[in-house]
Amino acid sequence: MKILVANLGSTSLKYRLFDFSNDQERLLTRGGFERVKDYAVAIESCLGELKQGGWIRDEGELAAVGFKPIIARGISGCVKFDDQVLAAMEALNGVAPAHNPPYVNGVRLFARRMPNTPLLGLFETAFYQWAPEAATRYAVPAGWHEKGVRRYGFHGASHKFIAERSAELLGRQDVAERARQLYVNGGQSPVSEPALRVISCHLGGSSSVAGIRNGVGIGASMGLSPQSGLPQNNRVGDLDSFALPFMMRAAGLTLDEAERQLCQESGLKGLSGGYNDMRDVLAQAAQGNAQAKLAVEVYVHQARHWVGAFFLELNGADALVFTAGIGENSAELRELICRNLDQLGLALNSAANAQVVHGQEAVISAPNSRVKILVIPTNEELVIAREARRFLLKTNLN
Ligand code: AMP
Repeated sequence: MKILVANLGSTSLKYRLFDFSNDQERLLTRGGFERVKDYAVAIESCLGELKQGGWIRDEGELAAVGFKPIIARGISGCVKFDDQVLAAMEALNGVAPAHNPPYVNGVRLFARRMPNTPLLGLFETAFYQWAPEAATRYAVPAGWHEKGVRRYGFHGASHKFIAERSAELLGRQDVAERARQLYVNGGQSPVSEPALRVISCHLGGSSSVAGIRNGVGIGASMGLSPQSGLPQNNRVGDLDSFALPFMMRAAGLTLDEAERQLCQESGLKGLSGGYNDMRDVLAQAAQGNAQAKLAVEVYVHQARHWVGAFFLELNGADALVFTAGIGENSAELRELICRNLDQLGLALNSAANAQVVHGQEAVISAPNSRVKILVIPTNEELVIAREARRFLLKTNLN
């Protein structure tokens, strides 16, 4: 069974082709296009590359195309795209303005080009479907909640990968299996005691921290939109809601301009005076740039804030996991986030932390650390492909 996973950006299309034949999962090939002006052309080029490379004979050989959509009103999980799902995504365009419109457009173009191939989406919110209701509510009037104003959580594919892989690394096959079957059985399969408690730090261009109990997401630092939680590269992160009307009145900003500034001029970029890539922020801080130094400190403060929140919620932790561009590659950031936590049972092995090899898993906690500290490279596309396959098997669409 061959499944194509397509990652749609506003001007990019990245793809990976997986094969699940003979009970094995193999990445056959990957590729992508940047600065896409015409998405239909990019889709054609993608299919052309798959055929020219001999990976597929024709589109009919693809059992499904899997996607990683962000959010839809009233719909989550792994679903087959249809007009209703796309309309539910469009209803929340304003929550994810950089993500939802290109996804809806891209999926429509795929549907036109491949009308007989199931197009499946694993929503980034899916991992938190079984979070306790109290963890999902804002204290807003009922009418706001009914319109969809609640905490959702994102980076679900990545945190799901960490849930599965960390359970395997910690020797809890029962929990790994539960995490694997999450969307098929609604998070219900039994696990043995004690509960496995994992805090997953997806730190990248976009960052979030998630709490995971027995393979199921119990909450995340991102709430209603991917603009919340930790400071993002250009996006604001958590902000008191009254800052918006205050600044609109105080500086005479229109709503559109305020939204643009919160989306494009904030986060690391806003704090550091223009640097939105953590590598540049760290380099500037090392050279004595005070704003960049503060940007790092704010980022670390927020990461620790959320790690602390889930540490309490989970009644401790068995593992703290770092993943994504910053989490996997920056020993400095991991060191800063883990500093001075020995009384909570977290002790970093600084030498092991400094020696992590790019792209490889590592245990970076000291032998006496009660909580294991791990680096696990994430693999969101594999999660999408696996869920698409399970969806096909469950619904007999294959
Ligand atoms: P991602 O969103 O997971 O692709 O992560 C991309 C981000 O990771 C980039 O914007 C960088 O800020 C960050 N990054 C990558 N390598 C490093 C590194 N060695 N040190 C600090 N940040 C890094």
